[in-house]
Amino acid sequence: MAVAPPKVLTIAGSDSGGGAGLQADLRTLFACGVHGMTAVTAVTVQNSLGVTGYTEIPPEVVAAQIEAVATDIGVDAAKTGMLASAAIIEAVAGALDRVRTGPFVVDPVAASMHGNQLLADDALDALRTLLFPRATLVTPNLDEVRLLTGLDVRSRADQRKAAEVLHAMGPEWVLVKGGHLWDDPECLDVLYDGSEFIELLGPRYDVKHTHGSGDTLASAIASQLARGADVPAAVRFGKDFIVRSVAAAYPLGSGVGPVSPLW
Ligand code: PLP
Repeated sequence: MAVAPPKVLTIAGSDSGGGAGLQADLRTLFACGVHGMTAVTAVTVQNSLGVTGYTEIPPEVVAAQIEAVATDIGVDAAKTGMLASAAIIEAVAGALDRVRTGPFVVDPVAASMHGNQLLADDALDALRTLLFPRATLVTPNLDEVRLLTGLDVRSRADQRKAAEVLHAMGPEWVLVKGGHLWDDPECLDVLYDGSEFIELLGPRYDVKHTHGSGDTLASAIASQLARGADVPAAVRFGKDFIVRSVAAAYPLGSGVGPVSPLW
């Protein structure tokens, strides 16, 4: 009989197109050699052209999923994706008080790349006050930075400033992803723990198919945290993983195709 691999829980929404959300998380976790588990927060109606609607899972059912897997199977690391509402965030925070989940990655998903909103406006405060102080790492892109801090990041110096502002909200580490800084010839992500800035540079691919890239990165990082890696090592692994996944993205439908988490 084989030995169970490390176990990672994703607390996220479903993408019916299979490109992003918990489907991307499970693909990534499998590719990274860990066991993936899901606490489903919302079911989106989605294809390569965008999200046309979603329904939220009742908050107590989200909490019950987290507690069910944590009390039996065990959770070596957890990550969040689409959380939809303040009530779901409150339920997640409550569940995290009752069970152990190990390192906790918060990907503050607010909207899809097509601009479809995936988080209620009044949920930003719950995200900042209830989940950030519990987070080992938060992984905002620049749109999410603007929503969370009001800062409009236009340069690498702005990225550092944003990392400081977000760190003051309570997470151990912040990763400000620079992928949306289009006039930067390289793709710089800034990692910060309150004392040291670590800059991670990667190539910028001029590609159309990047659906699910944020989910894929956060899951790859969580897979390494579950193995006991420290945050800088897990983030370096995640960055390497997402670069390969973007390079292997493929077209689907008539819109935007997904990155392909191949190791
Ligand atoms: N749908 C779901 C359920 C998601 O969780 C996410 C991102 O986390 C998206 C869609 C958006 O992905 P993208 O911004 O890559 O389109």
